[in-house]
Amino acid sequence: MKILVVEDEERVAQFIQKGLKEEGHAVDVSYDGEDGGFLAEVNDYDLILLDVMLPKKNGISVCREIRARGVVTPVLMLTARDSVEDRVRGLDAGADDYLVKPFAFEELLARVRALLRRRSDSKTPTLQLADLELDPITRLVTRAGKPIRLTTKEYSLLEYLLRNADKVLSRTLIGEHVWDMNFDPESNVIDVYISHLRNKIDKGYDVALLHTMRGQGYLLSADSPLI
Ligand code: CA
Repeated sequence: MKILVVEDEERVAQFIQKGLKEEGHAVDVSYDGEDGGFLAEVNDYDLILLDVMLPKKNGISVCREIRARGVVTPVLMLTARDSVEDRVRGLDAGADDYLVKPFAFEELLARVRALLRRRSDSKTPTLQLADLELDPITRLVTRAGKPIRLTTKEYSLLEYLLRNADKVLSRTLIGEHVWDMNFDPESNVIDVYISHLRNKIDKGYDVALLHTMRGQGYLLSADSPLI
């Protein structure tokens, strides 16, 4: 999943980013309200963690503005003040949940999981292509009913490819969604992960699902692409 963290305290932002990355998420960080609101509008995130007290524009205004512009991504507000008024203002502005700082990282993770689950419930519960299946809630991946063990990054990559099955995805798109916005499209890390993933999902099966589109990127499809 792709998550935006808008938090001006660098130490807190980096702590959150590191923890979420370890869970296999792609995480962008923004340090002020103007920049955060801009990123929330131009990129397609699965979740936004939004601090209330931010330079340039506070989190409540950011939330209200992105909702007014049609961004429906779940928003989890981070607030240092445990005042009822703040919480109500946040929820009124369109936030889905809030967390009072300081918080235990485990609690943040639980809230993140709940919001992501709610989001994947409203999408399709199980992602499927031919006999390949991925359950976003249990994170179980199977092909022809046989479980496939993936690393967190391989899993994130496969989930992104499945959500965009039958579309050619460029390295830049994959990098932005599965890694983060600072991903270097010139690096060969995607090719390495694709090759690992291909070994796990295609090797030993008659129909190959993961295709390399020379000069364009990658395609997950049950049909052989016409090259
Ligand atoms: Ca702050």
